[in-house]
Amino acid sequence: MQEITYKSCSIILAPNPSVMTGPGTNTIVLGGGIEGATVVDPAVDQREYLETVIHAGAARGCIRRILITHGHADHIGGALALREMLGVHIYAASRRGLPFADCELPDGMLIPAGDECLRVIATPGHRFDHLSFLLEESRTLIAGDLLAGTGTVVIIPPEGNLQEYLASLHRLQQLDLNEIIPAHGPIIKDPQQRLADYIAHRLEREQQILTTLQQVAATIEPGMTIPAIVQQIYHDIDPQLHMMAGKSVLAHLLKLEGEGRVKCHEHERWSLLP
Ligand SMILES: [Zn+2]
Repeated sequence: MQEITYKSCSIILAPNPSVMTGPGTNTIVLGGGIEGATVVDPAVDQREYLETVIHAGAARGCIRRILITHGHADHIGGALALREMLGVHIYAASRRGLPFADCELPDGMLIPAGDECLRVIATPGHRFDHLSFLLEESRTLIAGDLLAGTGTVVIIPPEGNLQEYLASLHRLQQLDLNEIIPAHGPIIKDPQQRLADYIAHRLEREQQILTTLQQVAATIEPGMTIPAIVQQIYHDIDPQLHMMAGKSVLAHLLKLEGEGRVKCHEHERWSLLP
């Protein structure tokens, strides 16, 4: 089991590599001392992995709580087993996002983390219930799936919302971060640059969609379907990924619709609004 120590955090790589999770989920154990340790995102129900997590917690005086960044399977898979083994509570944004959570975490709440505090930062977008956790002194952010050390972050409506996602990225820009520990891939050591890149990438994609819709604005039948937009914009990717790309285009279109810039017609055809 791969385990590294970064500043005050132990990072254990869960044995769940895949196309969607990259090398696997980073499970983080931090804090300790009189208030006990905290584990973030116990990802899979696998004995050797959970024992590694418990061992990392024991070295810090025992795990007292389980935090969940969001209710996707690759972040919660080991939570129930770990709760059973340790008799501790599971904390998540809401029971709507995670029905088996014991406690809900409001934005801004402080959680003991050894010599410093962990602040709950509500960062919806990738999923409606997404939380990040900020180590207040070291300015290290545990970012779940808001950013990825490798690969890309998918926003799939209706549980994902691009407008909220961009607002969450802008919120992180205000936090004076030193580094970001993502749930997948290596630690991000240039957070400001990476946040700016993420925002720029989404806005560039949005502009491509607007330009594509502009090209058909003059034709008789109103608008374009999402598969047609994907054909235009993602001509350089594997056709197997077109379904995923279509969901991303939908996320953009819903954001633009919310801003009154595009309209959805019959037969799911989209066009620009004047
Ligand atoms: Zn996720």
